[in-house]
Amino acid sequence: MPTYEYLCTACGHRFEELQPINDPPLRTCPRCGEAVERLMGAGAGFIFRGAGFYATDYRSKEYAQKASSESAPAKPAAPAATEKAAAPTTPQPAGEKK
Ligand SMILES: [Zn+2]
Repeated sequence: MPTYEYLCTACGHRFEELQPINDPPLRTCPRCGEAVERLMGAGAGFIFRGAGFYATDYRSKEYAQKASSESAPAKPAAPAATEKAAAPTTPQPAGEKK
């Protein structure tokens, strides 16, 4: 269950709320009853403290990418393409074309 961070714009009260991920965000400040803002993404803290699976997922993804790029041998530049580009195309006499 992730911890959300809120900031009250009215009184500056900053607090955290442990909420199920599907819960709607809090709207009012527990101190003054004014509107609060949810601090989205401000926290790497949110990711690490709250939902461990995010961090794990991210890490495994990164790991997979690294692993695949390391295990796959660097392919030499395709010679076919280079040859094609370098090969002189037989010039066509302009006069023969209709
Ligand atoms: Zn407040």
